Amino acid sequence: MLVRLLYASRAAATVDAEALGAILKQSKANNPAMGVTGVLCFSGGLFLQVLEGGRGAVNRLYNSIARDPRHTDVELMSYEEIGERRFAGWSMGQVNLARLNPALLLKYSETELLDPYAVSGRVSMALFDELVATASVCGPI
Ligand code: FAD
Repeated sequence: MLVRLLYASRAAATVDAEALGAILKQSKANNPAMGVTGVLCFSGGLFLQVLEGGRGAVNRLYNSIARDPRHTDVELMSYEEIGERRFAGWSMGQVNLARLNPALLLKYSETELLDPYAVSGRVSMALFDELVATASVCGPI
């Protein structure tokens, strides 16, 4: 039983490049043993993360992430049972903001700013799909 979960959150004031690196390192260290894959996007103080894997593993990880003081306003945007993974290539991929085309954000939202709270979960998932399709996701397995 595989599920895909998408949430958004606001970074705590203390999250800088070093703190983001620590979160990614922790994710890449932990996720393989849980069978979890996904992608993390951090832009303008907002996190958007997709988690895929077994239902129990994804639910437990999400509950742990939601309690993490490094972010607030953790909001579930989308949760679905899936037949196959879309982000199987990443224990936790990172959106490469240098390759994030503002036109791509405009395609899906009112402004060029990433604001998952202002759009539907379906729209945010579509954006993730395009980011993967355009090789804007980086990070080793
Ligand atoms: P611990 O043994 O609890 O901690 C390991 C190290 O992580 C600590 O030594 C410390 O350096 C650092 N650390 C842990 N918690 C904090 C904290 N609150 N503040 C500062 N440093 C801390 N975890 C995953 O396993 N997979 C994910 O995909 C994932 N995605 C995340 C996305 C976001 C946006 C955030 C904020 C956190 C994410 N986390 C993820 C981290 C998660 O919330 C837990 O901290 C983590 O799962 C605990 O793992 P652990 O028991 O191995 O770490």
